[in-house]
Amino acid sequence: PARTSRPEWDGVGRLADGHRVKLLTNVGSASDARAAAAAGAEGIGLFRTEFCYLSATSEPTESSQRAAYAAVLEPFAGKPVVVRTLDAGSDKPLAFLDMGAEPNPALGVRGLRIAFDRPDLLDRQLTAIVAAAADTGVELSVMAPMVATAAEAAWFASRARAAGIGRVGVMIEIPAAALCAAEILAEVDFVSLGTNDLAQYVFAADRQLGAVAALNDPHQPALLRLVGMVAEAGAAAGKPVGVCGEAAADPALAPVLAGLGVTSLSMNAVALAGVGAALRAVDLAACRALA
Ligand code: PEP
Ligand code: MG
Repeated sequence: PARTSRPEWDGVGRLADGHRVKLLTNVGSASDARAAAAAGAEGIGLFRTEFCYLSATSEPTESSQRAAYAAVLEPFAGKPVVVRTLDAGSDKPLAFLDMGAEPNPALGVRGLRIAFDRPDLLDRQLTAIVAAAADTGVELSVMAPMVATAAEAAWFASRARAAGIGRVGVMIEIPAAALCAAEILAEVDFVSLGTNDLAQYVFAADRQLGAVAALNDPHQPALLRLVGMVAEAGAAAGKPVGVCGEAAADPALAPVLAGLGVTSLSMNAVALAGVGAALRAVDLAACRALA
């Protein structure tokens, strides 16, 4: 029965030997955030801000963005949160951002790429995020989605810092970014692996297409090698490397990711206890052997 088989987890992500792997949560709404706080998440590892705007027909004003973000951040007062700037396009089209027709939307103008043409949109969002963080007393980090190069990371970091954000990161979800993680880490304070998109682009398999779903498998060595490379670059730079794709929610994979050197895992609230218990059962040497 679910009641007796529920794994024990005390709300601190660590291995049997005490090695820390922070257990964070992915959220897109205030109810996600409340559930994750109740489930013991140590912080927010990925706030998908685009989920606040899926039905908006015009750009939300700075003050409405501020209120929407604050509602999500509020359960994590005093805790670390990573807010991701708009990741619109491809599998997350937004009505108020007309991307035009693209033959391959997953390879098109999505994520941070929209901001290169519309930096004003990014700047208004960054201002609203900073205000919402101040309103709620969270420990703010901001990261950009769909970054391909170190130059893009540097461009984002300078705009985020100009907006007053102290901790700036980017997602590693394009193979080019994983291959150049060291150069990207020279520009930012942390990175977070988006294994959903990284798998899609590594295996050339549409993440929305059931017919190729079997290829989108984070247990595959090609994906894990890239994760290991990024984690090594993070260790060399002395900067955190998280995973916030669905791979982070897999209790069988969590010890492998820890063994590869990943420093935090971010997942939906329901996965926290299972992943937390799986990590508690193994020490770092066993994780490294598995990896
Ligand atoms: C990912 O790509 O792994 C990720 C976490 O971002 P999203 O699923 O929102 O694209
Ligand atoms: Mg993604």
